[in-house]
Amino acid sequence: MGIGDNITVNQFQFCLDHGSEVCWLYCFVDHREDNNARVSGLKQALGKGPAFDLNERKAICAYDLGATPGKKGGYQCKSHSKTDCKKCFDWVKVIKGLEK
Ligand SMILES: [Zn+2]
Ligand SMILES: [Zn+2]
Repeated sequence: MGIGDNITVNQFQFCLDHGSEVCWLYCFVDHREDNNARVSGLKQALGKGPAFDLNERKAICAYDLGATPGKKGGYQCKSHSKTDCKKCFDWVKVIKGLEK
């Protein structure tokens, strides 16, 4: 576990040590721009005005959402023990919830 190691959960990247999408304090990473590019229709889904900068949105924490390492690699959710669970790691929904 070195500095700069990342994990991937349902295509989104987070720092390994904290599960954070943005971790300036410890890991010096900001994955928001890359992660935003992996979901389509995010801006429309959020219903924000054109002035809203997606790269400044509130960061997701994968570990807060229950992401744990799966037996076969990858990361799974707590509720369904499913790798890259589309329900628990529905990023558009998660981001929407954070931006409310
Ligand atoms: Zn970190
Ligand atoms: Zn799940």
